[in-house]
Amino acid sequence: MLMATLLARMPDLRRRVQAQHVADHWGCCSECGGRVQWPCDLHQIAVAAERLARRRPHGPYSQQRLPEPRALRPVTNRGFAAR
Ligand SMILES: [Zn+2]
Repeated sequence: MLMATLLARMPDLRRRVQAQHVADHWGCCSECGGRVQWPCDLHQIAVAAERLARRRPHGPYSQQRLPEPRALRPVTNRGFAAR
């Protein structure tokens, strides 16, 4: 999921989303408003981003900045891995 991948690179924003998008007394998201059921899309994206960041603690997702392109090499046709 592209949004989760992007959010995994922004830990501050991810934590803020997880802190703000919580269930109210009716099981709806207190931040999204209306009758959006919790967990809302944003919260689920943040949870997925957290999982990505934890899966690669030393990888590019754990860093605020993206690594230099030459630090990456293709390992499969599905993605890249740090050297
Ligand atoms: Zn929400």
